[in-house]
Amino acid sequence: MNPFGVRFAALPKNVQCNPSSLCAYTSTDEGNATPRYFRCTHQAIPPASGLIGPGMQPFGAVVQPFADPGSYEAPIPVVKSSGASGDDILRCGRCGAYMNPGFVFLEGGTSFRCNLCDCVSAVPTTYIAGSMSTENARPEMKFGSYEVAAPAALQGRKVTGQSMLILIDCSPTAYQSGLTQQVLASVKASLDYLPCQRNYSLAIVTYNHAAVNFYFSSGPDKEPGVVCMGDITTPFAPLPRSKVMLNVAEKRQEIEAILAKVESICSSHASESSKPAVSAYQSCGGAALRSAVEVLKSQGGGKVLWFFMEVPNAGVGTARSRNSTQLWNTDKEAVLLRPDETNTFYTVLAQECVAAGVGVDTFACHVGEADVASIFHVSGATGGEVHYYPSFNSSLYHDH
Ligand SMILES: [Zn+2]
Repeated sequence: MNPFGVRFAALPKNVQCNPSSLCAYTSTDEGNATPRYFRCTHQAIPPASGLIGPGMQPFGAVVQPFADPGSYEAPIPVVKSSGASGDDILRCGRCGAYMNPGFVFLEGGTSFRCNLCDCVSAVPTTYIAGSMSTENARPEMKFGSYEVAAPAALQGRKVTGQSMLILIDCSPTAYQSGLTQQVLASVKASLDYLPCQRNYSLAIVTYNHAAVNFYFSSGPDKEPGVVCMGDITTPFAPLPRSKVMLNVAEKRQEIEAILAKVESICSSHASESSKPAVSAYQSCGGAALRSAVEVLKSQGGGKVLWFFMEVPNAGVGTARSRNSTQLWNTDKEAVLLRPDETNTFYTVLAQECVAAGVGVDTFACHVGEADVASIFHVSGATGGEVHYYPSFNSSLYHDH
């Protein structure tokens, strides 16, 4: 019996059922997307409208365009345009459907009929001049899933390489929980595994309750420098992008020196006072994120990995508590699941990130409640990911 409660034996013999999403399986794309990328809620659809109507069965699909292929499955093929305009990426003239094995070529291959809307469109001469006759040379004619590389005309900006800014909470509570040390150790251990290191740049930025520190290299075998940005109400980028971004292949030694310096500064602060002051529980995370984005916005965009132990509660981006038990189980409960309308900091920042090509991955490790709907919006809107480690402590999460 499958997860939907339908006995396979009850289906006609010519109906093939998808494997359950709960089991390991290997699928082959023979013209239809595999259930790894596109899975309908129904294993079979009645062919007669007389059966569909009275049944009143809701129909849906789970689409995962970026799912990882199985261990023994072929990677998704990539279709590239031969020109800058992308005219030879074949699409239906009416509904915009991309070329797929269901398209029917007519009139000797000079036109085609869309299998979604029945519209007949002309085939561009550039497409005919290609290797249409060789089936293997055209993945879009053979597979149900394929990637289309965006032609130059659709690329908003020139991508020169990958840039990643690591934004680390170095407050006393973050250090005492082991978060700061864990991030520093993970970054150092990951340097060898970054893809295409010659095109990869890295920046290290830290923050606490009242300031944001930007680290830069002073040269090989020299002590790294640090610039403190203390204006947490109107944050800015105190250094140009070229100063804080270090190429992983060329500046490996300098990056490791910066990681060691951050560790040294944090440990010295922690040893000064074993009992955290009131400010230890404050964080200018919002200001730190804003200034980090300002660095990446200046040229080409990039990715921010934002680690925080304390919910931002100082400077811009302060997240207030919105959890009102009076709204639970009422029509207004949905308001709690949307970003705070009275605090537009994260929604505005998210819009700027999208325009500048900046993505934000959030690693939330805080204790207690947080206005998740507002803070995480910046990740959700920029294609980033949210990782949640409640009440993080390195002794508990050492295997993550
Ligand atoms: Zn169409």
